[in-house]
Amino acid sequence: MEAADVQDGQANSSGTPAATPLPVARQWFTATRIDQAITLITEPHVHPFLRSNTWHVRGRGRDLLIDTGLGVQSLRASLPGLVSTDREPVVVLTHAHPDHMGSAHEFTEVWAHEAEPAAAAGRGSLMTGNLATRIGMSEALVAALPPVLIDAIPEPGYQVENYELRPARVTRTLAEADEIDLGDRVLRVLHLPGHSPGSIALLDEENGTLFSGDVIYDELLLDDLHGSDPTAYRATMNRLRTLELKVVHAGHEPSFSRTRLHELANTYLNTR
Ligand SMILES: [Zn+2]
Repeated sequence: MEAADVQDGQANSSGTPAATPLPVARQWFTATRIDQAITLITEPHVHPFLRSNTWHVRGRGRDLLIDTGLGVQSLRASLPGLVSTDREPVVVLTHAHPDHMGSAHEFTEVWAHEAEPAAAAGRGSLMTGNLATRIGMSEALVAALPPVLIDAIPEPGYQVENYELRPARVTRTLAEADEIDLGDRVLRVLHLPGHSPGSIALLDEENGTLFSGDVIYDELLLDDLHGSDPTAYRATMNRLRTLELKVVHAGHEPSFSRTRLHELANTYLNTR
């Protein structure tokens, strides 16, 4: 936690066993410009396990928001420079885990694979124990995490245990080989199951860029959640190794090169 970014807050008043009160974050999201078109949005006060990358891609004809964070705070209200009614982005969900679709309900156009339960309620929590039950985390993973997965609250009086993942209304289902045309950039949908049944990545062949969601990122990959399929994940890893690209903008952790993509895929294939 960066001390400069928080101010004193109050403990929750729910009567739950008192832990150290969480401070109030001055700012919930950070937005980092990657290049002329791409901005990375993230939530620094969310534990790294649950802290996802949201990618905003500005196009000549249309903007895209790839994933939407946890939904602790309004993404739309927090980023008026990027998201406004005259620059209404299309939201594409790489998959429907809570850390990727929390603010999707704020947007009118939400696209996702049909195998993802974006409209189902009650699937998220900021509390490790509850989240483990809801998404199916292993005991070892639970033991490695703190009981609460944020280190600040977004506003005074915020009750961590009252967080809910809001369902999203999917307005277009995406499938393998669908193309998303932004006017000056085309992204092709790759259906890459394993982490979840409807996980997709978006490939920008012209720029050599893959937006990979949780299909692959530079940390421990999860293949034992509800809906995970290690056999499908192996096929996905083999397919990833065939892709021509320069950079992977993933759903968690820093971006990486094609060389690192191959290392990560090989590690998975050699150890699972
Ligand atoms: Zn996920």
